[in-house]
Amino acid sequence: MSTISFAGDAVARVAYLSSDVILSVQPALNVDSDFSRQLHLLATRKTPGIISREPDIQVVRHNADPLLSAFQPLRSGKLVSVTTSSSILLQSIPHLYKLAQHPIVVHVSLGPFRQPDYSEITSIRQSGFIFLQSETLQEAQDIALSAHALAIQSGKGVIHFFDPANSLDDDPIKIENRELAKGLLNTEAARREHTRIIGDYSLYVDDDGQSIVTESNLPLVENQKSRTLDGEVSFNVQPPKVSRGEESSVGSSARESSADSRPTVSSATSLDSTNPRPMTSEDLFDSISHIWSQLSTATGRTYEAFEYSGPSNAEYALFVFGSTRLFVDEISVANASDEFAECGVITARLYRPWLGSKILDSVPPTVKRIAVLEHIRRKTTKWGPVLLDILTGLKTGPSGSDSPKIVGYQLGYIEAATARQALRGIFQNLKSVSPIQNLEVGNHERPQNLQNQTNLVQPKVENAYMKMLDQVFGPRLYVANRLEAAHAGVSPSIATTPEYGFGSILARIDHRKRFIEEVQEAAKSQDFTTSVSQKWLSKWALSVDDPSKVNEFAEEVISRLATDGSRLSSQLLSSKALFFQESQWLIGSDAWAYDLGNSGVHHVIASGANVNMLIIDSQPWSQRAAADGARRKKDIGLYAMNFGNAYVASVAVYSSYTQVLEAMIEADQFKGPSVVVAYLPYNKEDDSPLTVLQETKRAVDIGYWPLYRWNPYNEDEGKQNFSLDSERIKQELEEFLRRDNHLTQLMNRHPTFSANLSESYGTEVRALQKRKAKDAYSKMLESLYGAPVTILFASDNGNAESLAKRFGNRGRVRGLKTMVMSMDDFPVEDLAVEENVVLITSTAGQGEIPQNGRAFWDAIKDNTELDLSQIHFSVFALGDSHYWPRKEDRIYYNKPGKDLDAKVAFLGGKRLTDIGLGDDQDPDSYYTGYNEWEPTLWQALGVANIEGLPEEPPPITNEDIKTQSNFLRGTIAEGLADTTTGAIAAADQQLTKFHGTYMQDDRDLRDERKAQGLEPAYIFMIRCRLNGGVATPAQWLQMDSISSSFGNGTMKMTTRQTFQFHGVVKTKLKPAMRGINKALMTTIAACGDVNRNVMCSPLPTKSAFHRDVHEVSARISDHLLPSTTAYHEIWLKDEDDKQIKVAGNAVVDHEPLYGSTYLPRKFKIAIAVPPHNDTDVYAHDIGLIAIKNKNERLEGFNVLVGGGMGVTHNNKKTYPRTGSMMGYVAADKVHIACEKIMLVQRDHGDRKNRKHARLKYTIDDMGLDVFKGKVEDLLDFTFENQHPFHFKSNIDTFGWQKDELGLNHFTFFIENGRVEDSATYPMKTGLREIAKVHKGDFRLTPNQHLCLSGVHDDDLDTIKGMMKQYRLDNVQFSGLRLSSSACVAFPTCGLAMAESERYLPELITKLEGCLEEHGLSHDSIVMRMTGCPNGCARPWLAEIAFVGKAYKAYNMYLGGGYHGQRLNKLYRSSIGEEEILDILKPMIKRYALERNEAEHFGDWTIRSGIIHQTTEGKAFHENVAEEESDEG
Ligand code: SF4
Repeated sequence: MSTISFAGDAVARVAYLSSDVILSVQPALNVDSDFSRQLHLLATRKTPGIISREPDIQVVRHNADPLLSAFQPLRSGKLVSVTTSSSILLQSIPHLYKLAQHPIVVHVSLGPFRQPDYSEITSIRQSGFIFLQSETLQEAQDIALSAHALAIQSGKGVIHFFDPANSLDDDPIKIENRELAKGLLNTEAARREHTRIIGDYSLYVDDDGQSIVTESNLPLVENQKSRTLDGEVSFNVQPPKVSRGEESSVGSSARESSADSRPTVSSATSLDSTNPRPMTSEDLFDSISHIWSQLSTATGRTYEAFEYSGPSNAEYALFVFGSTRLFVDEISVANASDEFAECGVITARLYRPWLGSKILDSVPPTVKRIAVLEHIRRKTTKWGPVLLDILTGLKTGPSGSDSPKIVGYQLGYIEAATARQALRGIFQNLKSVSPIQNLEVGNHERPQNLQNQTNLVQPKVENAYMKMLDQVFGPRLYVANRLEAAHAGVSPSIATTPEYGFGSILARIDHRKRFIEEVQEAAKSQDFTTSVSQKWLSKWALSVDDPSKVNEFAEEVISRLATDGSRLSSQLLSSKALFFQESQWLIGSDAWAYDLGNSGVHHVIASGANVNMLIIDSQPWSQRAAADGARRKKDIGLYAMNFGNAYVASVAVYSSYTQVLEAMIEADQFKGPSVVVAYLPYNKEDDSPLTVLQETKRAVDIGYWPLYRWNPYNEDEGKQNFSLDSERIKQELEEFLRRDNHLTQLMNRHPTFSANLSESYGTEVRALQKRKAKDAYSKMLESLYGAPVTILFASDNGNAESLAKRFGNRGRVRGLKTMVMSMDDFPVEDLAVEENVVLITSTAGQGEIPQNGRAFWDAIKDNTELDLSQIHFSVFALGDSHYWPRKEDRIYYNKPGKDLDAKVAFLGGKRLTDIGLGDDQDPDSYYTGYNEWEPTLWQALGVANIEGLPEEPPPITNEDIKTQSNFLRGTIAEGLADTTTGAIAAADQQLTKFHGTYMQDDRDLRDERKAQGLEPAYIFMIRCRLNGGVATPAQWLQMDSISSSFGNGTMKMTTRQTFQFHGVVKTKLKPAMRGINKALMTTIAACGDVNRNVMCSPLPTKSAFHRDVHEVSARISDHLLPSTTAYHEIWLKDEDDKQIKVAGNAVVDHEPLYGSTYLPRKFKIAIAVPPHNDTDVYAHDIGLIAIKNKNERLEGFNVLVGGGMGVTHNNKKTYPRTGSMMGYVAADKVHIACEKIMLVQRDHGDRKNRKHARLKYTIDDMGLDVFKGKVEDLLDFTFENQHPFHFKSNIDTFGWQKDELGLNHFTFFIENGRVEDSATYPMKTGLREIAKVHKGDFRLTPNQHLCLSGVHDDDLDTIKGMMKQYRLDNVQFSGLRLSSSACVAFPTCGLAMAESERYLPELITKLEGCLEEHGLSHDSIVMRMTGCPNGCARPWLAEIAFVGKAYKAYNMYLGGGYHGQRLNKLYRSSIGEEEILDILKPMIKRYALERNEAEHFGDWTIRSGIIHQTTEGKAFHENVAEEESDEG
């Protein structure tokens, strides 16, 4: 940008260049101010500042006490500026007085737009700040710069104010001259400001500080000693040096000195050259005049304290304190006959210090009368403040009685159309014999369109807490400062303050107290018609202290009184709302209710009133370190606990919904003040819930935001006062607890508190961590011998990592001191002192380095200073030469490795060997290249010919683990007993899968915990075995309870129709497993290399048929269950139950079907009942298509074999496959057929390569006929020809359906199968309540929804009522959403590369507008998403699919068959949301226009040529729309 058009932009640029920290005050975090867009633009472009290379822009909301945030950076010697509208000034007065003593610049854009209120400036004129005003665009830039120069030179605060509308029509100006700015800013003084250490500060800065001046600091002024206030002043070219001293005790406060018209210290005229003295107004005047003279020399533009424009012989002049534009425009076109022709205009450039006596210096002596026009809306004195200033100034000036006559005016609202008329009025009065003083000109009332400039809005994200309050207390809830409540005659900005709310609550409490007395009296009275009323009133009066009872009785009392008909009853009924006990709340929120800070909390707690406070803290903890440490909400919980009479809870809705509920209920029940401090971190008001969730989780996990509840009276009931609801706690809180005697015991029982506390945060810790790890390694290595070799890897899928580790081991046996770590874990600054470095990297994305090498590469790629001349190095790269078929893309092949090789050599590194290139296309994959490279490296390191090397143990494979596991025991039991870690051993992690549980870690917390030096947050996923997805209500209740007691409070219904629990920590694993077994369910073989849960269509409309099919699924499931007793032994028996234990060396287990090595890979069976292919029957190892007889009962099955979804990105040897038809088998024999198919796979599946071990590859390798023959060899029958069948779709049918027996079934839409409660949707609670009364069963659908089955007509109303109550009856969603499905992915799945379950709903929302626009809202389009190519949500069969590639990047696939019969194909690789929407929106439009009757989206994409059809699994990678790019 070379020109600027807006004053706000010009000022923002200057502020950015001239400050270390800029506080950008904005109406909301996502609403820009006049300055913020420009500030953020500069920051985004990383434009270097003059004072600071990277100025820090801190966004603060205008109602969040913004100027408080200035103290912290000022305290650390930073130069601070503030960009703000004038609306914050009045509320900031307490801060302004203190800030005035610091070199801060506040740029104020006056509002409201086009009708600014200058009283916001005059009201703070005594604050001690220097005030400068600008009017035009050019002035805005120059005065902004002057303001910063002056602040630096004087050490005092400067407010620069301007009306942004005044310069709207100005021509664009050039951007500031950087050299000029540098000269004016006197960076030397600025640097002094940086290093100046300010003494101890309390919350507020010391306001005794004064600016002082010494002779040597002053500008060299000619004739200085004889200079008087009104004398001519000229300046030396040297800038004045004015510094601030802490010690000065001389003189009056700076406030006085700056506001007065004469210097408060008269010694200005007789300087003692050695003694410092307080700075005077004159000194400031000298400084600013000097700055302006420099500016003038450089630019030719002159500025003065008062400026006059107009004829040199004018008799009349206007002194305008307000926007001049309208008047100047009008005067410039005046006719000679106009009253205001030939008049001059005076403005104050320097408004404070007020040097009134200088006005006349700038005005021609011919001026006889001056009209003083003030744009002051809020008039608090009879005479305008500027008028008084001028009068005082003239009185003290030299002109005495010759002074012009001054006539004051109040300016109302004036528009261009009325400016001429206003001027005429002004001059008619001014020229009259006896002008009227204080005449009001213009409209008194603000025009309608300018009202309500700053609407307070409650951010949507904060609804979470508000809705919970509504939900918990319903009609009882009274939020005293609720935003939308009507408060007659009170503006929202006042009505929403907690102070106002507190007053209103006190009034209500009082009112009710009187009412209770009234009722108590009435209960004794005989004035009722019947005694029933009396009886109920007594009951009510006796229970006034119990909210639940009193509200229960209230209804009854009211109805009795209503029928009583007496005068007394009518009188009581006139206040009937008071029969109910309200739950009264005050809200504190940065965004809309003014912050309920310590003082507010103090007020409420000190009053002892029964008031509940909900204080929402929205500051993300990651911003915390940079932010003001003195923010008031810092320790509000602790502060309140110290009072000893308040209930206190610290909660976070995105961490624990139940804990928030508990806290709200407890706060309500507590008789006294309650403070619930609620965390809701967001950067912008429209942050997505996912961002808020992730930020919350980190803050809670790290102990920054502990979850706890504190009830000071609990101990009276023998309970603990304090309950910690999260794992960790912060130091201040721990200290408080330690101090508290009553809690000593608690502390003793939780010794882990202290261990976790003294951790600090941030990047230094991360760096320290790296160093520690490296040092520890180095130490260990010192004791060894041989040359040191540091092996650094960057790896996405583990190949480069395992190669690096292997190389490390092999080096060690050769006597080398090897150290292996990921590149990002290595401190780059240490690279130069290494001796030998080996870099091993794979290739990610479009030839990029994998994630765990990015920071390393970033640190060296543009580095020219790193000297690596001392190191020897070699690089080995892994990639695939065929992934980039286009010639021009070949450069991506092994690019990261090649880049590293070139860069290290460029920095001086000496090559040990040439780079080694591993290529997946080679016969032995990347090992071919590796096997050539490795020996050359041993040669170079001098360890090639070592004799007697121990034989290298072969790598342990899954097959080894299985064989050696003693029928799946391994050391699981020992691992569970080990409390030193939350993990279990690596081999056991493979084995526990067979028991139905996976070890995972919370990936939202991974990085932060690593930085803290903690092990990952290990958690386990448990998967149940639930044959056909059918559960009884009792089982549902048990699952619900397990998820709450042992998991993360939610249940996932999976695509294999079973329950999954997430977030189970190791210590809760066993109780959870027992709980599941107690519900007569199991988890055995839910995962692992065995036959897993057998799926079956829920089939709500055909109950008898469903029973038949479900029985078969149960039979198959039981028949193929493993026989090991390890499961019972590990999970279900007590430690001392020795009888059943089969451990030790007497193994008696036997697996008749599986043998000790089980299957080569997982094995899946599903049954579909045409026309519903909801189980996606083509996607499983065995797919059974149920065939019915004439009586609509089961007859047999068509058998499909070799379906499978799992793929590895970029590995074309892996592909999804749809099952192949084997033929038909009768129902009674199908379990045998399944067994034999499984046995052939057991014996012929690939046990060497797990990526090639599924049945689909066995069949493709063997050929279907051969495979079928082998199966039939084991059977005593053969497959018949398939029976005809027809599928219509693979999605669920939602809503109510009736079956042939007259029973009712309802299919709920449970988005992506996640059963949980949220503030807006208490789904889990609702389903639990329904389970308590339901007499049928629950059927989990294969699309992750839920069918409530078998509801009798008699129970229908009850169930429908409950569904309505919990909003479970809503199935009115778009066809796309109803047909969508996503796997779990982040944060629990270890394989996830991208979000899935947490993201797909958001993506669909972004597409729904487009669908509606093109009339497709109700059309079903099957869209699926998974976080990785493992394909749990069967993405390859969807019409549109997204498969995670990297965080926020997906591969997009199109062309799947609508009823799951056809695979899709790659359309785009590694695209983000923007591209997805850019692709899909026009495609949806085209589909709407071009589709044939009943043509589905997947079919259309093929017909229209957008994508080729995938005919079979092996052809999946052929004819793709775009080659996949990724790691090799
Ligand atoms: S598809 Fe991948 S990311 Fe999603 S749950 Fe399955 S393994 Fe995890």
